Amino acid sequence: MGLSIVTYDAPVLRAVSRPVRRINRTVQQLIDEMIELMRGEQGIGLAAPQVGELRRVIVVEAEKGPVGMVNPRIRERVGSVTALEGCLSLPGILAEVTRAEKVRVEYLDREGRRSWLDADGLLARAVQHEVDHLNGILITDRALSLIALGVGEGDGRCE
Ligand code: ZN
Repeated sequence: MGLSIVTYDAPVLRAVSRPVRRINRTVQQLIDEMIELMRGEQGIGLAAPQVGELRRVIVVEAEKGPVGMVNPRIRERVGSVTALEGCLSLPGILAEVTRAEKVRVEYLDREGRRSWLDADGLLARAVQHEVDHLNGILITDRALSLIALGVGEGDGRCE
């Protein structure tokens, strides 16, 4: 368990991740360790570039437990909602970001099965946030406004 979260201006956060061609033990282990790290940080989502891996892998905390998604693609977006959002790679910053209210995301699960998830609320926001990471996009790029927090502040709902 050697993963740690890269932050701020690390170049890996600005790169575009490459698709996973085959889901092997290495990818499954990455998913498992990312879930562990996300939970340890009390986050609701994490993307592979945030741990220095430029692969299209994300994990999100869904109602029924954590979900690992390989090669996720947002297939439908409905509505629009603006809210404050944090990022585990940008500690101390909250950004006001407009996202789709609901999304349908297509992905391969941990075993390589084609899967779909219909998400709304915080989960929909987390999925969109994590897919942005795979494309090198950060909340500061989408921010309508930014809030800088003092050390130790924040609501702990970061992605
Ligand atoms: Zn983030």
